[in-house]
Amino acid sequence: MNAVADDVKSTQLRNEPLRKHTSWRVGGPADVFYEPASVEDLQRTLAELPADMPVHWLGLGSNLLVRDGGIRGAVIATGRLPRLLEKQGDAHVRAGAGLACMLLAKQCVRWHLGPAAFFAGIPGTVGGALAMNAGAFGGETWNHVEAVETIDRRGERRTRARGEYEIAYRTVRGPAPEWFLSATFRFDRNTESSLATIKALLAKRNASQPLGIPSCGSVFRNPPGDFAGRLIEQAGQKGRRLGGAMVSDKHANFILNAGKASAADIETLIGEVRAAVERTSGVLLEPEVRIIGEPLDAAAKGGR
Ligand SMILES: Cc1cc2nc3c(=O)[nH]c(=O)nc-3n(C[C@H](O)[C@H](O)[C@H](O)COP(=O)(O)OP(=O)(O)OC[C@H]3O[C@@H](n4cnc5c(N)ncnc54)[C@H](O)[C@@H]3O)c2cc1C
Repeated sequence: MNAVADDVKSTQLRNEPLRKHTSWRVGGPADVFYEPASVEDLQRTLAELPADMPVHWLGLGSNLLVRDGGIRGAVIATGRLPRLLEKQGDAHVRAGAGLACMLLAKQCVRWHLGPAAFFAGIPGTVGGALAMNAGAFGGETWNHVEAVETIDRRGERRTRARGEYEIAYRTVRGPAPEWFLSATFRFDRNTESSLATIKALLAKRNASQPLGIPSCGSVFRNPPGDFAGRLIEQAGQKGRRLGGAMVSDKHANFILNAGKASAADIETLIGEVRAAVERTSGVLLEPEVRIIGEPLDAAAKGGR
């Protein structure tokens, strides 16, 4: 499968509101919003963009809080890149960065590569999962990575082995600044899964998480030996509201855009929850979500 319709073209927009591209549905405009339809276009554009222009990568925006003033520089969104997904031999699969993790999970299960089923729990792209070492249902992205293909700021591509990266819980450190174009995964055929297994896993998760309302999933990483959700609940923060943002009363580690939240509402609530947990349990929670961009007042001062 290497599907992308022939009429898909690279696009470049100015002042594109990022709330249209994030799962929290908040975020100000990106100066440049670029969606390449091919890796060759992407290489060309990276080489042509002014060398001092910052670039930010965006998958499905399911782990990003973009501030209300938006992003000075370019956002490169991987959603139009060819949906590369190919089986190589018995246990290897190569997948492109812009592919949704759900599609990877479903196709691998059809190929009898059961250990890939956990990807169905990650509502992002393969590129985002590589950047975050995303995990679900006991599985973790980098447990299966054998190699990745990367691109740098000048558009140069490289193949890198797993050993070139330091991997930990929701943490990936590697040669920077480089971004992921694809990965080769190994899924041993020792666990059978089916589309019904995926459905059952998701149904179980639906029962404990507020999935119909805009969020970024878990806001904080779990501290060693504990759960951020438990600590937040213990600190009496479940259901707490600030503007349009709210700590879910179903799962305390989710902060919801329960109405017309701004990114500032969400960021302030994150800070207040963090302070409340530190007061009650002495634990300083670390955010799992990535917070980028400028606050509204900074953007206004800059003449926007
Ligand atoms: C309802 C819900 C449930 C969730 N459940 C889980 C869960 O169970 N487990 C879990 O781990 N996460 C979970 N998440 C968080 C999120 O889905 C993951 O972190 C996911 O991997 C982010 O992928 P993305 O494509 O949306 O990345 P984005 O949010 O777009 O980006 C996240 C980071 O990755 C970087 N990035 C994106 N693409 C690339 C690339 N090609 N190369 C280099 N860097 C890149 C971005 O610059 C950014 O820093 C959940 C989110 C939601 C909304």
